[in-house]
Amino acid sequence: MTRVVGHYIDGAFQTTVGRELIEVDNPADGSLVGAVVAGDAADVDAAVRAAVRAFPGWAATPMGERIALVEGIAAGLERRRDELAETLTAEMGAPIGFARAAQVGVAIADLAHLIAAARAHVDRAAVSNSLVVSEPAGVVAAITPWNFPLHQIMLKLGAALLAGCVVVLKPSEVAPLNAAIVAEILDELDCPPGVVAVVFGDGAGVGEPLVAHPGVDMVTFTGSRAVGERVAVAAGRGIKRVALELGGKSAAIVLDDAPVAESVAGVLGSCFANTGQTCAALTRVLVPRALAGEWEAAAVHEVARWEPGDPRESSTAMGPLASELQRERVVAHIEAAIADGARLVAGGAEPPRPGGAFVRPTIFADVAPDMRLFREEVFGPVLAVTAYDTLDEAISLANDSDYGLSGGVWSADERRAVDVALRLRTGTVGINGAGLDVGAPFGGYKQSGLGREAGTEGFQEFLELKTIMGAAGLAASGDDS
Ligand code: NAD
Repeated sequence: MTRVVGHYIDGAFQTTVGRELIEVDNPADGSLVGAVVAGDAADVDAAVRAAVRAFPGWAATPMGERIALVEGIAAGLERRRDELAETLTAEMGAPIGFARAAQVGVAIADLAHLIAAARAHVDRAAVSNSLVVSEPAGVVAAITPWNFPLHQIMLKLGAALLAGCVVVLKPSEVAPLNAAIVAEILDELDCPPGVVAVVFGDGAGVGEPLVAHPGVDMVTFTGSRAVGERVAVAAGRGIKRVALELGGKSAAIVLDDAPVAESVAGVLGSCFANTGQTCAALTRVLVPRALAGEWEAAAVHEVARWEPGDPRESSTAMGPLASELQRERVVAHIEAAIADGARLVAGGAEPPRPGGAFVRPTIFADVAPDMRLFREEVFGPVLAVTAYDTLDEAISLANDSDYGLSGGVWSADERRAVDVALRLRTGTVGINGAGLDVGAPFGGYKQSGLGREAGTEGFQEFLELKTIMGAAGLAASGDDS
């Protein structure tokens, strides 16, 4: 049998003997990659109790020591980069080159930026007549998805540990094996018992009891809008702090002066990378009507670069989707777009190759705002092209969404592009293809989430503020670590 992993609780790996398991399949060929224990409420309780015990000690640990632990995690990720990339490729299908550079590389960069934010942090300040002190938020429940699993774990784990919080992590049951390596790295680092737990399992078995546990002070969740709402409602029952990073239906606006070839390559790159399973992917593109024909033809030509293939090959640009279930969902979205009258210009619902959770990179044109493809997150490589007549119309189409995660603007004139960016109701906007910046805040407007991750603001999410009235004069004598 392949690798079978138990929970990591109170500084020790738990037995897998006699436990129910969740099998992890390779989406490229259906083979068994490994298995993790299917956790339950008792596992959650053990992990949270250990975290509650560990919290005072970790909260009192000087910043220098917290930074040393997170630097140790970053060094562990770097040392095991190839193994992590191979694990990600096997469990969720990211092409190996992308897994190494983007999936693992971004996770390491996340930690570097969070460490810089923690170093620059001033934990006490004179404000009015008071001394204002920042303190760790407490016991954090971190729940993560499968699409950039290591990156999403590091944004939460790194920031929380640096802030002085303790963490119970529930990684996605679809791609949990990278989190098992993270637990091994922590174990080798002599992370104090209870400071980090990794509890494997699904939403019902582990996610729900974890959010509901009275020992948890804060829930940080990345995943779908629907589950995010459930998590927020459940956390609200205990008035727990909540941070949510949810889905998106982000629009790229191609202005009339934008170079067609660059905007086509950039939009397809954003939409199709990671097989379209990127929350901030540009999945709608708004093109001036006069340019629409040329843009579409260039896109049909460009799509050939995204031929699905074996994700273990370094030349492969697009792997399978993360699971057979995800393939079924994406195919249903493609069929719905056809039924709604969108014009298929590339790809389609037929599998591109036999076996595996593969789909064709797909482009629809004439996508109208009342079609499902315009409004619903597909989470697969499906692009919706919509023509516009005026800039105001383009901006209103871009903003015509329940989501507000990201956006893009292409123009030969950067100032003009930024003026458009300022009118978008989204948490991030990329100018002329600029991608994710993990040194700057990342998060959503509207139903794309609450709060920000990454960099200084991502670190600050895990802090509480205490105002000590009448003590402004003591601000200078702070934490000297
Ligand atoms: P999901 O919402 O199905 O699951 C996310 C996590 O929540 C998993 O660990 C899952 O086990 C857990 N979960 C499920 N039900 C739960 C419950 N009732 N209580 C507590 N936890 C529960 O999402 P997914 O399919 O793993 O990931 C894809 C989604 O994530 C997409 O919608 C995507 O847009 C979103 N996403 C958002 C961001 C972002 O930063 N905004 C990043 C990546 C992915």
